[in-house]
Amino acid sequence: MAGSDYDDERKRQEDLTDAGQDARRAGKRPFSRRSFLVGGVVLPLLRVQSPKRTQAQPGGAASQTPWFRTTFLWGQTNINEADPPHYDLDWWRKYWKRTGVQGIIVNAGGIVAYYPSADPLHHRARSLGERDLFGEVLKAAREDGLVVLARMDCNRAHEDFYKAHPDWFARTDDGNPVRAADLYVTCIHSPYYDQYIPGLLREIAERYRPEGFADNSWSGLDRGTICRCVNCRTKFRASSGQDLPPRADWDSPVYRQWIAWNYARRTEIWDLYNRVAREAGGRDCLWIGMLADNPAYEGRRFRDVKAICERSEMVLLDHQGRNASEGFENNADAGKRLHGLLGWNKFIPESMAMYVRNPTFRKAANPRAEARLWMLEGIAGGIQTWWHHVGAVQEDKRQFDTASQLTSWAGANRSFLTNRQPVATVGLVWSQANSDFYGRDEAEVLTGLPYRGFVRALVGDRLPYIPVHADHIEREASRLSLLILPCLGAMSDSQIAAIFKFVEKGGSILATGETGIMDEFGRTRAAWPLAELLGVEATAPPSREPRNRTGANHSYFRLLPDLTDPTDPTDPPSRRIGTRHDILRGFERTNILPFGGTLTAVKPRPGSIVPVTYIPDFPIYPPETSWMRESRTERPCVLVRELQSKAKVAYLPADIDRSYASWGLADHAQLLTNAIRWAAGSSIPLRVEGPGVIDCNLYAQGRALILHLVNLTTPGVWPGAVREVVPVGPLTVHVQRPDGWKINRCRSLVRNSRQRVATDADWVTVRLESLGDHDLLVFEA
Ligand SMILES: [Zn+2]
Repeated sequence: MAGSDYDDERKRQEDLTDAGQDARRAGKRPFSRRSFLVGGVVLPLLRVQSPKRTQAQPGGAASQTPWFRTTFLWGQTNINEADPPHYDLDWWRKYWKRTGVQGIIVNAGGIVAYYPSADPLHHRARSLGERDLFGEVLKAAREDGLVVLARMDCNRAHEDFYKAHPDWFARTDDGNPVRAADLYVTCIHSPYYDQYIPGLLREIAERYRPEGFADNSWSGLDRGTICRCVNCRTKFRASSGQDLPPRADWDSPVYRQWIAWNYARRTEIWDLYNRVAREAGGRDCLWIGMLADNPAYEGRRFRDVKAICERSEMVLLDHQGRNASEGFENNADAGKRLHGLLGWNKFIPESMAMYVRNPTFRKAANPRAEARLWMLEGIAGGIQTWWHHVGAVQEDKRQFDTASQLTSWAGANRSFLTNRQPVATVGLVWSQANSDFYGRDEAEVLTGLPYRGFVRALVGDRLPYIPVHADHIEREASRLSLLILPCLGAMSDSQIAAIFKFVEKGGSILATGETGIMDEFGRTRAAWPLAELLGVEATAPPSREPRNRTGANHSYFRLLPDLTDPTDPTDPPSRRIGTRHDILRGFERTNILPFGGTLTAVKPRPGSIVPVTYIPDFPIYPPETSWMRESRTERPCVLVRELQSKAKVAYLPADIDRSYASWGLADHAQLLTNAIRWAAGSSIPLRVEGPGVIDCNLYAQGRALILHLVNLTTPGVWPGAVREVVPVGPLTVHVQRPDGWKINRCRSLVRNSRQRVATDADWVTVRLESLGDHDLLVFEA
C-alpha cells in the first residue's frame, strides 16, 4: 500500500542524506545552511485552497487529491446504545459547522451495530429498533460536504454470538472463554477476524460508501494473556513447529517466537482489512486501526507502529490527553515521532478528549485551558485536531465551548500546519523493539522514562529535536549533529553500525545506561560493541542491575575536581583549584549533586574523562546517621571524550534521564542539557530568551521558517488540570538564517501582526512582549 508519495518522501530523505554527508566531509556542521537548502529539507509547499472535501470517488479520476490528503479538521460524537432515540442531528450539524470539521467518525458496527445489518449475529444497539442511525448521520454529513469514517469496534461479542461460534473466542489457560464484563473476547487468530469482520466491512462499504473505516480496538488480546484456543494452538504450531509457550518468559525462544507471530498477525489484519475496504469501497477507501502513541503500550498490543506507518496513507491516534505520568510536550513528541515514520506529507488526526481525562469522567467538561494545551501541542507536532465527545447527549455544555476557537484558527492557517519539515540538529533515538525486548515487562521504567526524561530536558531548555527511529539513523544523519541514545538496550547490528558511521563522519552521541548491551531480540551480547566508543573497558556487557522502582535512594554525584572546600564554610575563591569540564557548567558552588537512581557498573578506558563519580547510598533518617559512609569512589557516573573525527561522546552510566523523568530534580535537568549542549556544539538553530517553560518547534516549508511556541509554564507548577494559562514575556527569539535567505518579514499568525525583524550574518531576531498559551511565527524570505 506504500504509494508513490511515500516513495517520493523517502527519495527526498536519501537526497538529504547525500547532501549532509557531503557537507560533513567538507568539514561543515550538519546543519550547514548549505545542506539546509540543498538537502531538500524544504518541501514543496502543497497549498490546499479549498477546505471543502475533494473526495475521490471509488474508481474516480486520478487527478483528484484524495480525502486523506485534504481532510484537516475532525470530530467525533461517540454514541452508545442508549443514544439513538436522543440523537439531535440538527444540533450536531450546527456544531460541525461551528467547529469547522471536514471529517467525522460515526459509529457503524462491530460489537454494536447502528444500522440494520443483514447479519443476524451483528448485535443492534438496544434502542435502535429498525432505524438506520449510521445511515442518517452519514447522509447529513454528505449533505454538509463532510468526509465520513465508519467507526468499528471489533474485539468482543454477546453471548448469542459466543454460542454460535465458540471456536472464535479466546481461551484462558484453563480452557474458559476470556470475558470482559458481560461480553466475550474474540481471538485475533480466529475466523472472526478473517471472515466475519471482512463481511461487515463489505456490507458497510457497499451500502454506504464511507471514505474509510476507523477501528477502535482492532488488535485483539494484549500480551498479558496467552490465548489457548484451537486456532492459536494449531496456527502457532504450523508457523513455528512448537507448542504455545507455557508462560511469559522473555528468555525463552518460543515465547519470543510467539511475540513475533502475534506482531505479524496484527500487520496481516491491517493489510487484509485495507484490501477488503478498497475492494468494496473503492481505491481511496482506507481501513485505519487506532494507534496509541506510547511504544510500551503499542508493544503490549503487538502493534508494529513502524510497519503500519510504512504501509499507510494516514494513521489515527488515540492519545486523548495527558495522563498522570506525562506532560503536554508528549503530544508534540508523538506527532514528530509518528511523522518520522509516516512522512511529513501525511495526516495524523488525533482523538482529543473534550471531557475530563485524568481521572476519566466521560460526561464532565475538561477545563478549556487543559484541553487547549493538549491540542496546541499536538498541532505543534504536526497532528490534526479531532474533538471527541462520548455520548450524543451532554448535560455539561461547557465541553462544547473548547474546540471551535482553536479549530477555526487552525483551519484558517492550515497551509502552515502541514507539509513541512522539522528543523533540528538533535535526534532522540527510539525503537519499539527496545521497548519490547529490553524493556520487557518493565518497559515504562526501563525505556519509557529515559526517553521522556530527555524530552523534558530538551523542551525545558528550548532545544529543537526530532525523534529518530533506530532504523532511520542513517536516513536522518545528515541533518543531525547529535544522536541521543536513551537507554537503548536492545539494538540490531545494523543500528550499531549506523552509530559508528555517524560518529566517523563527525556526529556526536550521548548515550545512557545499558545502551547496546543486547541484540534486537533482547539477548545479551557476548561482547559490548559500543564499549570502546563510549570510553569504557570492553569487558562483557554489564549485567542488568536491579532497579530502584519505588523511589530515590540516598546516593549522590561527586563533581570533579573539588571547587569548594568542605572544611571551610567561607569557601574563599583562592582555594579553588582545577578546571571542570563544560558538562558541569553552573555547578561551581557545589562539589556534589543528588542522584538517587541506578548506576551501570563500568570501568573507564584510558583517555576517558570522568567528571562525575558516585557517592553510595547512606541513611536519611534519623539525621544523626545521615553522613556519607563512602564520600569518594572511583565509580564513573559520567564519561566524556572527543574523537579524531571531532565527534564528541558523552556516556552516562548513571540513569540521570530516568531519574529526571521520575522526580524532576532541577540538577538532573541541568546535567542533561549541559551534556546535550556540549555534545551538539554550536549547531542548535534556535535560541529563545525570556522566562517560562516553552515548547519550541521549528519547521521549514518552502521559503519560510515556522516556529511554534507553546507556553507550558503553568502546568509546570501545579499537579492536576490546568485552569488558567499565565502569559510569559518578554521573549527574544533568535532563529538561524538559512544561507541566501534575506528574511525581512515575520508574522505572528496568532496575533495577526507583523513583528519587527533584526538580522545579522547568521541569525534573525524578533521580540515578543508576551506569550499567551501559544504563538506561531512565520519567517519569510
Ligand atoms: Zn486464540
